[in-house]
Amino acid sequence: QETTCAMIKPDAMCAAGKIIECILSNGLLIKHMRMCQLSRKEAEEFYQVHKGKPFYEALILLVSSGPVIAMELVGENALCRWRFLLGPTSTEVARIKAPSSIRAQYGSDTTRNACHGSDTHENARIETLFFFKCWNMG
Ligand code: ATP
Repeated sequence: QETTCAMIKPDAMCAAGKIIECILSNGLLIKHMRMCQLSRKEAEEFYQVHKGKPFYEALILLVSSGPVIAMELVGENALCRWRFLLGPTSTEVARIKAPSSIRAQYGSDTTRNACHGSDTHENARIETLFFFKCWNMG
C-alpha cells in the first residue's frame, strides 16, 4: 500500500476533527499521527525547498505559530488521493474549482490553506521521516 505525509497546519487546527473524518471517510487509513509544535528551525527544514520564494517567510511564520497534526496516510494511490481531497493550493481557487475540498472549506488564503500533502513519493518518505523518525515505525 502507498503512504504519504499529511499535515494539518496551525490555521486549521480548529477543524482537525472534520479533516480527520474526511480522511477516514474517503478510505485512507492513518498509520501514524502526531501533534507537535514546530520551532522556526524545524519549519525551515520542512519547507527548505521553498527557501527564497516570496511566500517563504509567511509560510515559516504560519507553520511555527502553533500546533500541527502530522499524519502518515496509507491507501491505494494515497498521495494523489490526499492531494485531490486538499484541492488547489489557493483557497480562493479551491472555492471556485473544488468547493467541497478541504482547502475550500477550511483554508483562509493561499498561505493559510489548512493542510499540507506530499507532492512526490520521495518527499513523502522524507517528510514522514521528518515527523516520525524517533518512532518505532514497525
Ligand atoms: P503543500 O506542499 O503544502 O501540500 P502545495 O503543493 O499545494 O501545498 P506548494 O507550492 O508546495 O503548494 O507550496 C507550499 C505551501 O506554500 C502552500 O501549501 C502554501 O501554504 C504556501 N504557498 C504556495 N504558493 C503560495 C503563494 N503563491 N502565495 C502564498 N503562499 C503560497
